Amino acid sequence: MAQPLNTIKERVRELRAYSLSTDRAPVKLNQNESPWDVPAEIKRETLRRFEQRAWSRYPDFVPQSLHSALAKFSGWKPDGILAGNGSNELIQALLMVTVGEGKRVLISEPTFALYRQLTTVLGGELRSVPLKDDLTYDIAALRETVERMRPDVTIICSPNNPTGCRLKDSELTTLLEASAGLVVIDEAYFEFSEHTVVPLLEKHKNLVVFRTFSKAMALAALRVGYLLGAPELVREISKAVLPYNLNAFSQMAAEVAVEMYEEKLRPLIRLVISERGRLMAALGSIAGLTPVPSEANFMVVRSAIEPRLVFGELLRRGILLRDVSGYPMLKDYFRLSVGTPAENELLIENLREIFA
Ligand code: PMP
Repeated sequence: MAQPLNTIKERVRELRAYSLSTDRAPVKLNQNESPWDVPAEIKRETLRRFEQRAWSRYPDFVPQSLHSALAKFSGWKPDGILAGNGSNELIQALLMVTVGEGKRVLISEPTFALYRQLTTVLGGELRSVPLKDDLTYDIAALRETVERMRPDVTIICSPNNPTGCRLKDSELTTLLEASAGLVVIDEAYFEFSEHTVVPLLEKHKNLVVFRTFSKAMALAALRVGYLLGAPELVREISKAVLPYNLNAFSQMAAEVAVEMYEEKLRPLIRLVISERGRLMAALGSIAGLTPVPSEANFMVVRSAIEPRLVFGELLRRGILLRDVSGYPMLKDYFRLSVGTPAENELLIENLREIFA
């Protein structure tokens, strides 16, 4: 009898699928998205430009004009930039060209689940250094592991999803200097920390940076991400990206968003940062809740009531959080994204009632 499942790699069959609950609620604080839709001016200008473009023609083979816009935006060279169909695609491309049997990947957990998943699917050997008890990076342990294990790729998410901790430049430099392999910094949330490691690219040829338009840029629906690195590295990584990976509409929207960033998006980012501080203080004043300081647009909160119960009770009241209690070290925590001021108020009120 045919046994098709036997053709699947053992390590893939053992892997738990990366999934998201299908729950829906009017107040959606579960995916670290922008709580506001992208400003109308950005939508209108994108639609205006797109209407004039032939829809019958392929997108650019290489999205040169977006790469130039991103170069100006990030302060890095256009030939050291690669745009993709979400940063997920670029994480996959980078791992495809670096990871196989016998290759070692180092991460620090809890973190974004995709790094572990893709490394495992590709047959790499994964090592994971736990965060410290205060849920920040354990630099001494990371450095020691880099020296002992000599990873081909080290991936650090900074600010980290889901804990919001960030690597300092001096700590990153330590890792870059200790590493013979690549050190990848996932800056999906860098706008909310108002800090970037891009200035370190010039000196450190083994540094690669990932970014996305799905969070601060409020374009999650359009799937745009980009990668920054030494041009000779970017050329190799691009070999694992499919031709025309980025559709013409998303390219155009990303260009418009970058052009209007200061005027239309920065004010929203500033508001998220200020709401994050307000939420942190308000949640900290509720007995039974301990929010963890975060440099991103979300935070994890330790809960004296079982997180699964809090999640269910809030969902019943129309608020959707992320249950991260299955992550390593986060058994007693839930994660919430910073919402609009009104959404945050609603969340605070409901948590006060639940914890009264
Ligand atoms: N990196 C991190 C750390 C993330 O949290 C996410 C989204 N959850 C991504 C990458 C993926 O982003 P994109 O939408 O650009 O694929």
